[in-house]
Amino acid sequence: MLVTKAPRGTNDLLPRESDKWHYIEDKARDICRRFSFGEIRTPMFEHTELFLRGVGDTTDVVEKQMYTFDDKGGRSITLRPEGTAGAARAYIEHSLYADTLPAKMYYIIPCFRYEKPQAGRLRQFHQFGVEVFGSAEANVDAEIISLAMSYLEELGLNNLKLAINSIGCPECRKQYNKALEAYFEKHIDALCETCRSRLKRNPLRILDCKSPVCAQIAADAPKLLGHICETCDAHFEQVKSHLSGLGISYTVDPNIVRGLDYYTKTVFEIISNASTLCGGGRYDGLIEELGGPSACGIGFGLGLERLIMAMEQQNVSFGDAPQARLFIANIGEKAAMLADSLVYGLRRAGISCEKDRMNRSLKAQMKYADKMGFAYSVVLGDDEVATNRARLKNMENGETVEIALDELSQALK
Ligand SMILES: [Zn+2]
Ligand SMILES: [Zn+2]
Repeated sequence: MLVTKAPRGTNDLLPRESDKWHYIEDKARDICRRFSFGEIRTPMFEHTELFLRGVGDTTDVVEKQMYTFDDKGGRSITLRPEGTAGAARAYIEHSLYADTLPAKMYYIIPCFRYEKPQAGRLRQFHQFGVEVFGSAEANVDAEIISLAMSYLEELGLNNLKLAINSIGCPECRKQYNKALEAYFEKHIDALCETCRSRLKRNPLRILDCKSPVCAQIAADAPKLLGHICETCDAHFEQVKSHLSGLGISYTVDPNIVRGLDYYTKTVFEIISNASTLCGGGRYDGLIEELGGPSACGIGFGLGLERLIMAMEQQNVSFGDAPQARLFIANIGEKAAMLADSLVYGLRRAGISCEKDRMNRSLKAQMKYADKMGFAYSVVLGDDEVATNRARLKNMENGETVEIALDELSQALK
């Protein structure tokens, strides 16, 4: 085992690449503030049972992809494969349902799934997600969809398409499952082994099987949208009219089912240039399933690796990285001491600055300052130490002005 290689499916984020991440994370925090969402931070691991019940034990995620292990106390622990279950657990544990409702929360978190690593799909990946607990209102469905759309629009992504669907409630799904079972029964010999075992337990899952043969059979299966009950249908109509009211265009795609068991009623996806960037939906049964009171919920998740990939492919700007302000070069021992205390003082005064840390020659120091993109530089030698004055150089246009050293912080503000 090579200890100088990160585990398969994981990525290091190096200092020179982190500005992109800060940019999309800052934008996410900013839009959540504007939409009145507060951040929630839950543990990276939970009791395995939470995901078995919260994500659904016949889903691909639970059956094949979870990082599950026994801890030293013999408890089964799982690294979270998604964010909703942990947020729902916290909602119940801290009785947020007895607090001011709705409970609106967001998170930017690493998640873990044992998958075949490929472009945009990692075993440790990162998600921006939001959840709203406690409201059954269709305008909340439209609110979180509008949040996701605004976020992606403000980042500058092109050709954003919103697709929505309703997958009904457990009531309508009973009817639908029967119709599905009857349909897939006719094709049972062609289905893959996993789907054959799903047929009795959860025929809905067959609809997202990745096997091309199953997918082809699933394409002609009866659609849930044709089987939803009156209540679910009314809710879906309201969601559509709220979206229209907000000026958000959408298409209804009866093929969106989402891969997790807990969804009810509204499900949606946002696609940009054929890449699905965001997926979410309502999960009105989840809180009760986990042992909480009857409470509605809705949320979305947005994969950040995939988002960055889409932004790079579309040449979308990641904003201007904050520029370091000042480099203080020095020649000689005394100047080095003065540079040390100047840099420290300026940093305490809120200015980003740096000095030589490698005992370089003046020429090498200036090369470094150039490479690191400092906006200004000063050079300290014996004269500057004696007079307490120096020339402040604008690194971009080369212009210099003479300045008293104790006025540096003023000049750079
Ligand atoms: Zn229904
Ligand atoms: Zn299959």
